[in-house]
Amino acid sequence: MKPGPCGADRQHKVTDHATTALLHYQLPQMPDVVVRSFMTWLRSYIKLFQAPCQRCGKFLQDGLPPTWRDFRTLEAFHDTCRQ
Ligand SMILES: [Zn+2]
Repeated sequence: MKPGPCGADRQHKVTDHATTALLHYQLPQMPDVVVRSFMTWLRSYIKLFQAPCQRCGKFLQDGLPPTWRDFRTLEAFHDTCRQ
């Protein structure tokens, strides 16, 4: 990953993951559940700088906080630690 302007880079990452999550939660037969799940997932980003990565245990990796959130457990992972 190339180093970029820190804020913009992070913003982009979060937007990417938000889009992925939105697609993941898109279950046409249960629109209410979808919205609620997505909002819960989105709220977990409020703690972006308070949760260390659940895999490597670090706060920052390449200057980025763990921006990935597990869909079910909402645990924090770095983008590179989530596989
Ligand atoms: Zn990590």
